Amino acid sequence: MKAKYSLTQSDDWRWQARNAVTDLAALETALDLTDSERAGVVRALAGGFPLSITPYYLSLCARKDPTCPIRRQCVPNVREEVVVQGDLRDPLGEEQHEVAPHLVQRYPDRVLLLATDRCSVYCRFCTRSRMVGAGGGARSRAHLSAAFDYIRATPGVQEVIVSGGDPLFMSDQRIGDLLAELATIEHVTNIRVASRTPVTLPQRVTASLCRTLRQHPSTWLMTHFNHPKELTTQAKQACAMLCDHGIPVMNQTVLLRGINDDPSTLERLFRGLVATRVRPYYLLQADPVTGTGHLRTPLSTGIAIMERLQGRVSGIALPKLIVDTPGGRGKVPVGPQYVADEDGCHTTLRTFRGELVDYIDPPAVTGGPWR
Ligand code: SF4
Repeated sequence: MKAKYSLTQSDDWRWQARNAVTDLAALETALDLTDSERAGVVRALAGGFPLSITPYYLSLCARKDPTCPIRRQCVPNVREEVVVQGDLRDPLGEEQHEVAPHLVQRYPDRVLLLATDRCSVYCRFCTRSRMVGAGGGARSRAHLSAAFDYIRATPGVQEVIVSGGDPLFMSDQRIGDLLAELATIEHVTNIRVASRTPVTLPQRVTASLCRTLRQHPSTWLMTHFNHPKELTTQAKQACAMLCDHGIPVMNQTVLLRGINDDPSTLERLFRGLVATRVRPYYLLQADPVTGTGHLRTPLSTGIAIMERLQGRVSGIALPKLIVDTPGGRGKVPVGPQYVADEDGCHTTLRTFRGELVDYIDPPAVTGGPWR
């Protein structure tokens, strides 16, 4: 049974934001909380990673089932206080790679601009739980001026990933000003906006927002669906509106224990995304954020899932499985092994059906009419 939270019907994103559930009493009216969840909420409210759930996203939670995949993503749990081996406060070393206030550079050709610390829903697995929801809100133009100066002075930076927090939780005006500023920097040829609002607050995607996003000629939207239950009519409409305005939409799914760590769930999600014109881009091994050990899977789980899906699911529905290496050393693609043997110019490949097939390299080019 779904949550009986009644304040779900407003299509106004600001109403959804204003009525987000941020305290225990409101959450108890919507869900029958377990002791672990209740203690998790108390801990979050006492200064841990905060609680916020939009009425819309809360309406997707099962009222009586604590194993509900939506509920597990957004309701705090006391297990967040458990620290396990490998946990890191800042798993991607973003503080170490900060090149200007609110600007992180981990690769030569792109930077990450942290435009706000606020989100409509605080996801319990968030990589930036150390700073998200900390109270700073949207960064002003003055706060970002050093970041813009750095980008302007660094011609190698061709792409800016605008993230946060969730940048689409800011006003159209603020988003527009930010994109307009980036559009004046000639060497920035592409902008990626990273937002979970199509999943957690699809009402935020309006025609006005889409026009604002087109301020830069090449704006891509990276979103973050983790489970097929999130592909509601409203969420699909939000993605369709973005696509219809010429904004490519890609999806990064985080692999999460007890939420989506099985092939059939991910197959339904990836097929549903493609049917919505959203390209499944990455399946991310969950980052080792402190307090998320209960939500993470072993690396072998993701590899086994990809092996199960390869060949059985259309290539355009198959993301890359990625580990973002701890310390901010960059993303590494991982996956099943399909090379069974190599001997000179003969390579034996294992197909998705398990057959062994030889591939023979062409002879070395030593001369001839094609030279
Ligand atoms: S929307 Fe993104 S930044 Fe915000 S809490 Fe969720 S994962 Fe973290």
